Amino acid sequence: MLDAVVVGSGPNGLAAAVELARRGRSVTVLEGAATIGGGTRTEELIETGHWHDVCSAVHPLGMASPYFRQLPLKRFGLEWLVPELQLSHPLDGGRAVALSQSLEDTAAMLDADGQRYRATVVPLLTQWDRVLAGTLAPLQSCLRRPTTMARFGVSLIRSAQSIASRFDGDSTRALIAGLGAHSVARLSAPATGGVALILAAAAHADGWPMARGGSHAIAATLAAYLRELGGKIETGRWVKSVDELHPAPAIYLDTSPAAAARIAGSRVGPRLARRLTSWPHGPGVHKVDWILDGPIPWSDPLSGRAGTVHVGGTFEEIAAAEDRAFAGDAPENPFVILAQPSMVDPSRAPGGRHIVWGYCHVPHGYDGDATALIEAQVERFAPGFRDRIVGRHVHSANGLAAYNPNNVGGDIGGGAMSLHRLLRGIRVGRNPYEIGDGIYMCSAATPPGGGVHGMCGFNAVRYSIGDQA
Ligand SMILES: Cc1cc2nc3c(=O)[nH]c(=O)nc-3n(C[C@H](O)[C@H](O)[C@H](O)COP(=O)(O)OP(=O)(O)OC[C@H]3O[C@@H](n4cnc5c(N)ncnc54)[C@H](O)[C@@H]3O)c2cc1C
Repeated sequence: MLDAVVVGSGPNGLAAAVELARRGRSVTVLEGAATIGGGTRTEELIETGHWHDVCSAVHPLGMASPYFRQLPLKRFGLEWLVPELQLSHPLDGGRAVALSQSLEDTAAMLDADGQRYRATVVPLLTQWDRVLAGTLAPLQSCLRRPTTMARFGVSLIRSAQSIASRFDGDSTRALIAGLGAHSVARLSAPATGGVALILAAAAHADGWPMARGGSHAIAATLAAYLRELGGKIETGRWVKSVDELHPAPAIYLDTSPAAAARIAGSRVGPRLARRLTSWPHGPGVHKVDWILDGPIPWSDPLSGRAGTVHVGGTFEEIAAAEDRAFAGDAPENPFVILAQPSMVDPSRAPGGRHIVWGYCHVPHGYDGDATALIEAQVERFAPGFRDRIVGRHVHSANGLAAYNPNNVGGDIGGGAMSLHRLLRGIRVGRNPYEIGDGIYMCSAATPPGGGVHGMCGFNAVRYSIGDQA
């Protein structure tokens, strides 16, 4: 008899398993796919020797994660590589603005807005550990820290539109738009400003690192630590029902809410089962991976030094692009999040070649092909980009869902971002992860949500064991 079974080996499933094993529990992870990692896998998608991150590439909350920081992942080979510039945001006319790890350098680039930017970000940075502890936890935990909540909650609950309105310069407003758009919501929606500010502060605190060799290194090192602690992992095991599992008093599901309801079956009450089955999902993602015969020929002097580039122009353009995805309209001028892993890690591509990854938000379950629109946006700020393309691999929204059933309709955030989701989670109550007696969800659909930080898995274990202080 095992103490626990974890279904799914994404970063949250592995984090849950590691935490259980660290507490002396016997645990087995069952992964449906042939390889572990979920959204943290790196593959030779196009040609041998070129290593592409199929999903996550840049990890603003990876190095910052209060959980990952506790683990000896470096001993198992995880190395975070921090780019020279964390983010660049090109604008027409060869201009760009960037997030440097140095707050002073960033403020200097923002000209007249620099002072106000510093005043906005410094309060978060001076209490960074408390801010992270509050935002990477369920609301229940935040309520136990009323002072921190009162201090930061008001600014973090604001929309990106509202935060941007503090600034005069079009480049600062564009920067905030790009950061806020990571929440995959309209920029007028509550908390999109909070996402923008947390990402900006993370850039100054720890940077936006990539894992040497690709994001698979995160899964591989978590798995190696788990095995050292005695945990086991079985791949090729798609789980349809808890009835087929090894007997165990605790089951953790790193799955979508609807899949969790199906797997748990009659062990979930009918009301919660309905909520999980009709869980609101957000827009999808259309992703392109490229091999280039050289670096992207950006018109501006900053983007070639940045790990991540936000390609989409002004605040108004980005807001319009996100509104279209949210409304279910086909993309026109999409906002593209682009990562340049081989700029920081030349081992990812041989012979001076580069691998690049870019995606835009599209309507949920979108069947169309946004590849040409994405490439046109990059070409707008880097004329000659298309001529550098040696090969490409495309994942449509539905392709991402087929690749990993957690990406329902191409939604990569475990559900639509909304105030309702932030306040309510999958369920209210003392344990926001428990969906049935001894059955817990631990995927990105649970608090604190999407991204590679392992906090959903860690929190699920802490709450189920009653150690959530
Ligand atoms: C294209 C894309 C780009 C992204 N970029 C970034 C980024 O740059 N930075 C970042 O921080 N985040 C990024 N993300 C998001 C990040 O990958 C996810 O938030 C994260 O992986 C969620 O982890 P998870 O453990 O909750 O689930 P997942 O990583 O989705 O893992 C779930 C695992 O469970 C398995 N599984 C599901 N159902 C079953 C079942 N019934 N039986 C057995 N196994 C099952 C799946 O096969 C999968 O391996 C990106 C995601 C995508 C898709």
